Amino acid sequence: MLVFNNKAALGRHLAPFIAQAKTIGFVPTMGALHDGHLSLLKASLENNAITVISIFVNPTQFNNPDDLKKYPRTLDSDVLKIQALNPAIVVYAPEVDDLYDPKEQAASFSFEGLEFQMEGKSRPGHFDGVGTIVKKLFDLVKPSHAYFGEKDFQQLQIVKKLVALHHLPVTIVACPIYREANGLAMSSRNERLSTAEREEAALIYKTLQTAQQKFGTKSAKHIRDWVTKVFQNHPLFCLDYFEITDTTSLKPCIKKSKLKTYRAFIAVFVKNVRLIDTISLN
Ligand code: AMP
Repeated sequence: MLVFNNKAALGRHLAPFIAQAKTIGFVPTMGALHDGHLSLLKASLENNAITVISIFVNPTQFNNPDDLKKYPRTLDSDVLKIQALNPAIVVYAPEVDDLYDPKEQAASFSFEGLEFQMEGKSRPGHFDGVGTIVKKLFDLVKPSHAYFGEKDFQQLQIVKKLVALHHLPVTIVACPIYREANGLAMSSRNERLSTAEREEAALIYKTLQTAQQKFGTKSAKHIRDWVTKVFQNHPLFCLDYFEITDTTSLKPCIKKSKLKTYRAFIAVFVKNVRLIDTISLN
């Protein structure tokens, strides 16, 4: 299996595929791979001549140095998982200096306001970092299709906006959320939870499911207040935010409209591990 850690070598390998206009499917990840990541790879394998996965913990999208330091890095076992899925998948797993000049910061992006909601409020600069790395990787891999999970729904909308605003020749494919048996959305950060915490974290998705049920008859404000109460004084969890937003603009829903679709978004700290999840409401 081919594992590149150098962008020039990766570029040389991909050049003939690009010259022959072969379809290239691309799955950008930060590693510590789980079945959610593998589902993106499977979707790419089905629809492209070649599939490339990047494994790179991108420093410019972390506003919290401790979160960056503690982010799980498991390259050896990641490579084994990819190989077991399909040894034809091309892996790009660079060090930071392969993609960034010394002292290089994130570029500044406008995503027409999407970047100011939820994760953007809680993690200042996060989406500049995401835009910076996704643009760099798209320029390098030149994918025809790129696969992103709905788990990071705001990121997915932002990447679609990046592609539209910069006229990038790539189709963004949205993939559904993979969950543990108890409903907890799979996440590399789940590895930092104890077994008991992982079980208790099922509350996050249960809360979203109840919010979805309530949305048929209750106002967005009523549901926000209810979720706040669920997490108030909780011994293990601290609610960072819960939002009900319009699916397209990601602006908070004030008054429901039958013409719009809505989603609920949640971010919760389990000690110092921050987990996010989302659900469609109508
Ligand atoms: P990450 O490694 O967390 O940056 O995620 C890489 C890609 O995998 C992103 O497009 C994520 O949205 C997607 N992803 C992460 N977790 C899941 C999941 N549980 N189900 C589906 N896709 C996921």
